[in-house]
Amino acid sequence: MTCSLIKGTDISAGIYDEIRDRIAKLRECGVVPGLAAVMVGNDPASQVYVKAKEKKCAELGIRSEMIYLSDNITEEHLLSKIKQLNEDKMIHGYLIQLPLPDHIDTDKIINAIDPKKDVDCFHPENVGRMLVGDHVFLPATPGGVQQMLIRSGISTEGKHIVVVGRSNIVGKPMAALMMQRGIGGDATVTVVHSKSKNLSEITRQADILIVSIGKPLYIKKDMVKEGAVIIDVGVNRIDDPDSPKGTRLVGDVDFDDIKDHVSAITPVPGGVGPMTICTLMDNVVKAAELSIQAQK
Ligand code: NAP
Repeated sequence: MTCSLIKGTDISAGIYDEIRDRIAKLRECGVVPGLAAVMVGNDPASQVYVKAKEKKCAELGIRSEMIYLSDNITEEHLLSKIKQLNEDKMIHGYLIQLPLPDHIDTDKIINAIDPKKDVDCFHPENVGRMLVGDHVFLPATPGGVQQMLIRSGISTEGKHIVVVGRSNIVGKPMAALMMQRGIGGDATVTVVHSKSKNLSEITRQADILIVSIGKPLYIKKDMVKEGAVIIDVGVNRIDDPDSPKGTRLVGDVDFDDIKDHVSAITPVPGGVGPMTICTLMDNVVKAAELSIQAQK
């Protein structure tokens, strides 16, 4: 079977052209969109993600402020930082890089974010709005996957979509988006997780399989229907003696095992990852646009 690659790098390039036009219009109104990212501690993976966001902001002309805080910061201090960001007119959106250290109550922190600046779409108000189909922001990874499908011409209407994983940032909102009415939705959705029985039986029923579990190369050919579309959200670093670094990035799907059996698949890297950053940038620009409307 001929398998096409769904490349987030290519699809996001088209979306960035649209985002640049919107940023130019904002600048004509005297507004430079601003993003802040708060990082607590020095988790290496989080640092890589924050740097990637900073670089993309610089490329697009979005003002960015990276706030690095020590991992022994108190909850009160972090809450006061959030209050400052909520009041900062130059910052239209900000995110708190997760996970936070154990002594900080993550829910309390997320609840303190002004929903109008919640560009990660983690605040319960924004999650609720997305669920009822009245979203302001879309969560970055699920929103990016939805755009990927739409812009690749892969219809979700009436398809059976199986989402593997039920995290708050990917699995749950992904399932919610796929079942919404309208383009990029209208699917029949099944969600499976680590407690699901007969996982392979269910994944084999999927017309579109979306996997976000954090288990390297877990999904094999015998778990997938011939001709299915595979969206691999997982990003895992594994040992690779043949690579100069001694490691390489792989997804949750065994790409080499599966690629001749399916109709389309996202690569790792270069698949979902670039779409996640792209949706975040879209949300920042939207927050800046909404701030102008709010002043009128
Ligand atoms: P997560 O919080 O790590 O949770 C993993 C989910 O997978 C849980 O719901 C868990 O079930 C389920 N799971 C684990 N093992 C399973 C198995 N053998 N069978 C079925 N379900 C299983 O998930 P996440 O935050 O969505 O992250 C998952 C992966 O995606 C990671 O590799 C992460 O780095 C990557 N990621 C990539 C992007 C991107 O932009 N490309 C964005 C976000 C995340 P339980 O709930 O029962 O424990």
